[in-house]
Amino acid sequence: MDLFEHQGKQFFKGYGLPVSAGEVAFSVDEAVAAAQRLGTPVMVKAQVHTGGRGKAGGVKFAGAIDDVRAHAANILGLDINGHVVARLWIEKASDISEEYYASFTLDRSAKQHLGMLSAEGGVEIETVAAENPGAISKVLVDPAEGLTEEAARAWVTGANLNPTATDQAVDVMLKLYTAYVEGDADLVEINPLILTPEGRVHVLDAKVTLDANAVFRHPDFEQYDATQPRDEREQAAHAKGLQYVGLAGSVGVIANGAGLAMSTVDVVNQVGGKPANFLDIGGGANAQVMADALEVINNDPDVRVIFINIFGGITRGEEVAKGIIGALDTVDIEAPIVLRLDGTNAAQGRELLAPHLNEQLVMEPTMLDAARRAVAMAAAAVTGA
Ligand code: GDP
Ligand code: MG
Repeated sequence: MDLFEHQGKQFFKGYGLPVSAGEVAFSVDEAVAAAQRLGTPVMVKAQVHTGGRGKAGGVKFAGAIDDVRAHAANILGLDINGHVVARLWIEKASDISEEYYASFTLDRSAKQHLGMLSAEGGVEIETVAAENPGAISKVLVDPAEGLTEEAARAWVTGANLNPTATDQAVDVMLKLYTAYVEGDADLVEINPLILTPEGRVHVLDAKVTLDANAVFRHPDFEQYDATQPRDEREQAAHAKGLQYVGLAGSVGVIANGAGLAMSTVDVVNQVGGKPANFLDIGGGANAQVMADALEVINNDPDVRVIFINIFGGITRGEEVAKGIIGALDTVDIEAPIVLRLDGTNAAQGRELLAPHLNEQLVMEPTMLDAARRAVAMAAAAVTGA
């Protein structure tokens, strides 16, 4: 769950990190009113779920109200990496003496949290990593032990920040670590973290990704969840309790189990097709779940064929077959279906399905055969053959 910068700063503020005062604005007038309340100079900042806003013209300094009006008008509606700006953050401008970079994320191979700090901030960390890797000071934190002040100080010292910044930076890193862990974030990044001419360490940008699975622990995260950009198909699927991820292809995929669903997406790609989605209906492929899944796929206008890939386990083949037959009765499916049914009691399941097979519902013996058939049918549908 990616937060807008202003939400990230609000999240940080809750953990005591030093952020600037600001207001959200959805129009030029709101931006002007916000700047009047805050007092100029202010920054006019595009709020989009992507980085590199500064480079794209989405972050502007406004010394006077007229500048706010002009910048807000230019930035609203701006396309930044495919994200159209509909919301602004008007923030009290800071004076910058130095720009640093700070972040925490999970290092999966080390099975520890990874903190990164660099005196070369304000630019993309990937660039620093490529051109001057020695400029990034790293710390690995055992999640069971946490970040001690001693370890934080050694880490900060290794980053060679301006010595004036050291004590405050240690404090900021400890708070950032707490925000990251207690806030159930997958990533917290501050770029730039600045040192002001008065010698204050201050947060100027915030990139925060929260673990959506932890929302139940944080009722206040509801507000962040509400502003997530959503694929309409995903919304409909999630409302039905289905594990669905929208993709850009033409082969609708339904499988039971996340592993099989991922393999199905892979095999469709492997034989030259493009999956329209990932959809895991879970273990119990009953008629209602199957009908829900088919309905979601059916509403995707790009789908030309539906590939149902079921491996009977605890749910036996004949139950799955009954589920599919029941679902076909209740949902008016437009695209043809290619079915692969294997696993426990597959023979009984196929027998039940046999009388229902026709041009709209075909069965193949293996996953690879079914994928090839589905992809060929999708291609034929597109060319109108
Ligand atoms: P990003 O481009 O999406 O990473 O957006 P940032 O929030 O990091 O802003 C881009 C750049 O604008 C920063 O690296 C700063 O150099 C500059 N900037 C942002 N806020 C301020 C501010 O309050 N004062 C000044 N002088 N520059 C700022
Ligand atoms: Mg930035």
